[in-house]
Amino acid sequence: MPLPRLLMLSLGGTITMTASTGGGIAPTLGAEDLIAAVPGLGTVARIEARSPLRLPSPSLSLNHIAAVANDIRAAFAAGVDGAVVIQGTDTIEETAFALDLLVRGEQPVVVTGAMRGPQSPGAEGPANLLAAALVAASREARGLGALAVLNDEIHAARFVRKGHTALTSAFVSDNGGPLGIVAEGRPRLFSRVAPLDLPPLGSDDALPAVALVKIAMGDDGRLLRAVPQLGFSGVVIEGLGAGHVPAGMADLVGEITAAMPVALATRTLSGPVFTGTYGYAGSEIDLIGRGVMPTGFLSPVKARLLLTLALAAGLEREAIAGAFRAFG
Ligand code: ASP
Repeated sequence: MPLPRLLMLSLGGTITMTASTGGGIAPTLGAEDLIAAVPGLGTVARIEARSPLRLPSPSLSLNHIAAVANDIRAAFAAGVDGAVVIQGTDTIEETAFALDLLVRGEQPVVVTGAMRGPQSPGAEGPANLLAAALVAASREARGLGALAVLNDEIHAARFVRKGHTALTSAFVSDNGGPLGIVAEGRPRLFSRVAPLDLPPLGSDDALPAVALVKIAMGDDGRLLRAVPQLGFSGVVIEGLGAGHVPAGMADLVGEITAAMPVALATRTLSGPVFTGTYGYAGSEIDLIGRGVMPTGFLSPVKARLLLTLALAAGLEREAIAGAFRAFG
């Protein structure tokens, strides 16, 4: 049997960072360097390595990831069996989810990175890269969409989140835990996720700006009120609890829904936004009645990506609300 073919794209991140002259570490290594540091990778797959970016991941944008999605789609169309995207951990959850929305093939797309730089004692980048390649090359991971693989855990793009600033176990999957682990050189899945039931979303569409506004106790709404004047095309509200804002903000939320689509997520990051429990001013029933779209289990940052891509694809409000219901 010929080895599976993998595309490996390195975008930067700590996994690529070495000591810089200015102090601290900065991205320098490319995909070829990272592959050379993993003994045995050549027995897993035939790898095509590219290094389109060398950025810290806070500087990645959805435009960058849309270009990555195009590269992956072209590779899959040419017969490549899986893709590994290497990047900084700060935005892995967003990259993985954006690729989940944009690629939609049977072939696995796995995003990985490292919490420790390659010159640190106990650097885990090589182990993460090997695990990511094993998953991307596997039959087991086909049909699961985009995944994040770190610390030998396999996370679904829709659930994964960076939950710690420092530990190699930083990645968690809210609402259900990881889908599986990599052990003894192969993926072991405990559960699977269903394919996304969403309209197609394009990688070449011009991307509108979507704001993300987090609500805190005593918020008087002045930040949210500014959103329409700042050129945004939509807004995600990161609400309190099951999807709530202070009563004094409820009318304002209603005014904003008249101007642009407003999605309602929860800052608790776990559990769904409610749709039918609380009836006070500023509650989810009140806000949904004023036109907001609950995002289900989708985290605020992922809801922002979905709203951006849905607006870019020209979806009408009912279709956008339906897309969020797919995560309910
Ligand atoms: N700040 C780094 C980045 O996201 C952290 C990492 O790579 O883990 O690029």
